[in-house]
Amino acid sequence: MTSIAFIGLGNMGGPMAANLVKAGHKVTGFDLSPASCDQARAEGLSIAASTADAVKDAEVVITMLPAGKHVLSVWTDILPSVKEGALLIDCSTIDVESARKAHGLARERGGSLASLDAPVSGGVGGAKGATLTFMAGGAKEAFDRAEPILAKMGKKVVHCGEAGAGQAAKICNNMILGISMIGVAEAFVLAEKLGLSHQALFDVASTSSGQCWSLTTYCPVPGPVPASPANNGYKPGFAAALMLKDLKLAQEAALASGAATPLGAEAAQLYSLFANAGHEGDDFSGIINFIRGQKG
Ligand code: NAD
Repeated sequence: MTSIAFIGLGNMGGPMAANLVKAGHKVTGFDLSPASCDQARAEGLSIAASTADAVKDAEVVITMLPAGKHVLSVWTDILPSVKEGALLIDCSTIDVESARKAHGLARERGGSLASLDAPVSGGVGGAKGATLTFMAGGAKEAFDRAEPILAKMGKKVVHCGEAGAGQAAKICNNMILGISMIGVAEAFVLAEKLGLSHQALFDVASTSSGQCWSLTTYCPVPGPVPASPANNGYKPGFAAALMLKDLKLAQEAALASGAATPLGAEAAQLYSLFANAGHEGDDFSGIINFIRGQKG
């Protein structure tokens, strides 16, 4: 049994922390939202009065927060109270630069603290079912200590490299996803204009060179893949607002590193228009309806 502090008990952090309790760990949580704290208490967490209070006896500290500024602010607040030898893991999706700054804060505290960036893929369903994929950045020793804990919340834990490498893997993967979903959506819209049925395009492309996850698992038209959000009024799933967030992070990283990502930039622009048209809460595959509405 490990003593774990979990800060940020929202849609993802709540069920992730609950899975650590189910695995037999002693978990102390904190969130600014009283409703999230009540829910977590019902799942067996102890709730602390502050972030500092939550971490003071913890061997492992996990944060699951909205963005880089929240992570840097919480890590700055907790570092003076964290125990010698503790391991800090940030599972939020944040920009690579803030992730590296967070590792730097832990290093500056001195002593024997270890730190890891470990964002996740798999969404709320994966958080509830403990089937997330973790992509981690940081020293090998930190990864080796974190792996058995992360494995209680996910089905795959990958060490991607040094500090920030987990966030880098996450935004590169999601840039592929955003671009490929738009590509699949455009193909279905063109097929409609050409009088080709959805099922016929699916049967061909899913077994041909157009095959990809956006088509075969998350098909943006109803019918061919019964479990995809298109069959459920485009209820998320993975909301367009979150896809837009990740595409913007990819564009920030591309700008900072000098990488050319013309399709990534176009995807960010299209998701921005889609989200701002009142669809930020729709599943990101709903972009097909936005594309269908555009004039050729
Ligand atoms: P959420 O908004 O549901 O939860 C975030 C929680 O952090 C909230 O409960 C909020 O009250 C809390 N919080 C904010 N500032 C705080 C502070 N200073 N101290 C304590 N608590 C604080 O968001 P979420 O959906 O759980 O996402 C969390 C992270 O996971 C984000 O970075 C998101 O991009 C990433 N993510 C989300 C999904 C998804 O499908 N929801 C999938 C993969 C990754």
